[in-house]
Amino acid sequence: MPWETVIGLEVHARLQTRSKMFCGCSTTFGAPPNSHVCPVCLGYPGALPVLNRQVVALALRMALATECVIHLESLFARKNYFYPDLPKGYQISQFEKPIATGGGISIPNAAGVKSVTIRRIHLEEDAGKLLHQPPEGSEAPHDATLIDLNRSGVPLIEIVSEPDLESAEEAVSYLTRLRQLLMYTDVCDGNMEEGSLRCDANISVRRRGETLGTRSEVKNLNSFRFLGRAIEFEVQRQIALLENGERIVQETRLFDPAIGETRAMRSKEEAHDYRYFPEPDLLPLRITSDLVEQVRSTLPLLPQERVARYEREYSISRSDAEVLASSRRLADYFEETASSSGHPRTAANWVRNEILRVANERKIGIEELELRPPMLAELIRMIEEGEISGKVAKEVFDEISRSGGSPRSIVETRGLGQISDPSIIRAAAERVIAANGEQVAQYRAGKTTLFGFFVGQLMKETRGKAKAEVANQLLRELLDR
Ligand code: ADP
Ligand code: MG
Ligand code: ZN
Repeated sequence: MPWETVIGLEVHARLQTRSKMFCGCSTTFGAPPNSHVCPVCLGYPGALPVLNRQVVALALRMALATECVIHLESLFARKNYFYPDLPKGYQISQFEKPIATGGGISIPNAAGVKSVTIRRIHLEEDAGKLLHQPPEGSEAPHDATLIDLNRSGVPLIEIVSEPDLESAEEAVSYLTRLRQLLMYTDVCDGNMEEGSLRCDANISVRRRGETLGTRSEVKNLNSFRFLGRAIEFEVQRQIALLENGERIVQETRLFDPAIGETRAMRSKEEAHDYRYFPEPDLLPLRITSDLVEQVRSTLPLLPQERVARYEREYSISRSDAEVLASSRRLADYFEETASSSGHPRTAANWVRNEILRVANERKIGIEELELRPPMLAELIRMIEEGEISGKVAKEVFDEISRSGGSPRSIVETRGLGQISDPSIIRAAAERVIAANGEQVAQYRAGKTTLFGFFVGQLMKETRGKAKAEVANQLLRELLDR
């Protein structure tokens, strides 16, 4: 019996603001525990939240990048539950009226491209963090659980998809694209290890043609690999249960990467067990359409638009274009090199191959490379205009990719440039002919295969720098005389 997999993702992205969502505390990651806290984010009674403007601007950026409908009025709600990392006893979130709904993104899949609908994007504050192992130097007993509230009140957006995804691969592609968009728009740093991007996967299976099955929700997946493995395990587990005549209970599960399995955390028969209610301390969030337009005007060109442009304007292959557009920094680097060299296809090759290789080898970001686009463009122009050979270009590249500097001045000070001056090449060719009388006689007697020998001698004479076309032409002239 063929089974179909149905997946919907809820993705939490930490917004890149300097201060928290409702207070002035810093959002810096990795600070000493409980050093960025105040009465608001500690949940003291009577402390009042004040919304950070930047939070709204960043949420709007992602909403626009995913083509959502923006709601000029949205509401904050309290999501109530007890947990030791949540001193207020509720998170401020959005429930009935979120800031944005009904968008979508396209992802690559087996059939080509597929569009995935985004149900909603809403604002939410983060909770604190429990440390189940006391940090080094702590006086707490080794089996104590400690609470760090630096993360309490850090702004998030939650991006909820429709159950449109049909396999682990599609779910991973979707999360990859979301992360790419979040990073392109500077909404989120995308750092999954630090928890800037976390994902809950809702998973169910059904027999082909049936209505949606009961789902389980695997919480807090913080890597692409874990997302893929959790889905694969969960699908097999559910199919086995159903084929055994049992039923799936709607529940929250956790993925244990050590054994590659999910296990039940708590059951959640009722969808809305949080008892949401409107947040009485905050007014409805009202946005002007001016603000929306202002935010829209500061959005960068998005990855898919860039891919299309590279294919159309530069005739670059789709797969190369995808690589070049994969991050905004790389795309900007490429575009600057392409336009200032005037040779976009050569620029694409150098950036796609050499620049990426150097950055990977040195484990640094494109922005940290000493070699900036104007200098790479200079190198490309010198190649295209025949001033240097391909071999010299590689040598010069190796040097400037380590220490920066101008390729032209390196070529000039070291005398690495190609010789294209015919009078210099002619003089060298004459020396070659004078020194190889025997071969010249044979050549003139009809052994024209010796031509390559003369070319080789001429290159030796000019230390490989004679421009090939000029050298060939002059040698023929002199030999055929
Ligand atoms: P809740 O808010 O209680 O988690 P929602 O109904 O808002 O539940 O759905 C949350 C996520 O679960 C959404 O991404 C949605 O696409 C997904 N989802 C809903 N029903 C199913 C299902 N039967 N199988 C897989 N995913 C589902
Ligand atoms: Mg959920
Ligand atoms: Zn605070």
